[in-house]
Amino acid sequence: MADSPVPAYVDTRKVFLQEAAIKGMMPLERLPRFREILATETANVWIELSFSTNESKQRLITGKLSAQVDVTCQRCLEPIAIELADEIKLALLASEEFSSRLDPTLEPWICADTKLELAGLVEEQLMLCMPIVNYHPGNDCLDKLDYAISGDDPQGEGQTEQRESPFSILKQLKE
Ligand SMILES: [Zn+2]
Repeated sequence: MADSPVPAYVDTRKVFLQEAAIKGMMPLERLPRFREILATETANVWIELSFSTNESKQRLITGKLSAQVDVTCQRCLEPIAIELADEIKLALLASEEFSSRLDPTLEPWICADTKLELAGLVEEQLMLCMPIVNYHPGNDCLDKLDYAISGDDPQGEGQTEQRESPFSILKQLKE
């Protein structure tokens, strides 16, 4: 079931041998660090993970994640809905010292325990694919902002022209 939550933990002694596959949603409550950078509590995080072992006996966690979340627009500070998607290609290592021998296409994930917590792994991947800044597309919120500011000010028209100038300088620089 795509809508049911994934288990909180998997047993690393079993999942790789069984070549287990896990698919489902990751509840936001299990992702406290990620939750903190979101603008609202409305979020859907969906993951699909496969556990396997390669010829070099490395334990692989592959799959993908996708998420629909609300973040804050850096221009108008209102929420904006964005979609995140990423491929997961990790090698599970018991300690940091093995990571230098790792295939460069694999990212190490260190876990010495037999209990592998899925939320930590998913949260890290989500943080990595999160854009640094987010803006509403086009000038949608810029127009709204202009309207709000000039509405407060009877001489708004002149101000609008002034505020536009940094943008036209930027435009000239780009050209
Ligand atoms: Zn905006």
